[in-house]
Amino acid sequence: MSAQTVIDPLRFARAGESLAGALSVAELIRLADRLSEAEGEARYRVSGQVRDGRPALGLRVEADLKLTCQRCLEPFVYPLRTEATLLLARDEAQLARWEEADPLCDGVVAEPQMDIAALVEDEILLGLPVAPRHPDGACRPAGLP
Ligand SMILES: [Zn+2]
Repeated sequence: MSAQTVIDPLRFARAGESLAGALSVAELIRLADRLSEAEGEARYRVSGQVRDGRPALGLRVEADLKLTCQRCLEPFVYPLRTEATLLLARDEAQLARWEEADPLCDGVVAEPQMDIAALVEDEILLGLPVAPRHPDGACRPAGLP
């Protein structure tokens, strides 16, 4: 499970390949200080595609993460589900042009070797709530054990 999964993203996208797997949350070290406990798995699916002539990676991530509620400071499970399409630019200049044309576009510069775990970790970091909280009314009342 700790084996690195590395792809050539441009080739992967053009060939329309796809890949699914799971990562141990404990191995995603950049997440560590955002979690109350690093346990469980992050499941992902990466699919290569071409959108309007641009190579892209579709990325879906699902993970049930233990966060600390900012209201009552108790841990709770946050069901993170994210889906993104990352356009793969040849270089910074191309990415800048795409972002100028569409400020909402989501793109990265394609490196010859891209580490899937790092991509998944990035998506999780983007998908985490800034101030995680229980749903309204679900906090434990103050003063109770
Ligand atoms: Zn709470």
